[in-house]
Amino acid sequence: MDWRSHVFIGAILGFAIFYLLDETIFALMMLTAFTGLCALVPDLDHDSSKGRQWLDFAFVGFAFMTVYGSACGTGICLPALDGMGTMLVTFLAMAGVYFLFFRFFKPRHRGITHTLVACIAFGVLLYFMTGRMLALAGLVGYASHLIADNELKFI
Ligand SMILES: [Zn+2]
Repeated sequence: MDWRSHVFIGAILGFAIFYLLDETIFALMMLTAFTGLCALVPDLDHDSSKGRQWLDFAFVGFAFMTVYGSACGTGICLPALDGMGTMLVTFLAMAGVYFLFFRFFKPRHRGITHTLVACIAFGVLLYFMTGRMLALAGLVGYASHLIADNELKFI
């Protein structure tokens, strides 16, 4: 299944769930988009996956934003830990985990990332980093990918 189908299925599921949870229209749109994006996460184990290509670009973009948003003016330093700074540090921490995992452990395609354990771990990680709504969106997006791939193994 190609990445567009995964995004579409994830977004449709996300829209249905957050519509039923009676979210505001703005939250509904954001959570639907996030669910669609999270449907690409399991295929990060594939070198040419769309999610992998986007993340590699996003990392460079966020690195620039971190430098730009840093609190100490012209030097390169950690951003102030207010709302934006916390978000950037969270992203960089996630990017670090991502690079460590995929560069050094090189999971095989449709291996550990296509299991229910990975799906739950992703949801728990998102819960602690972002809160319950984004965690639910991530969990739904991730699970939609596993269902669409017909890969419902536990581990
Ligand atoms: Zn897949």
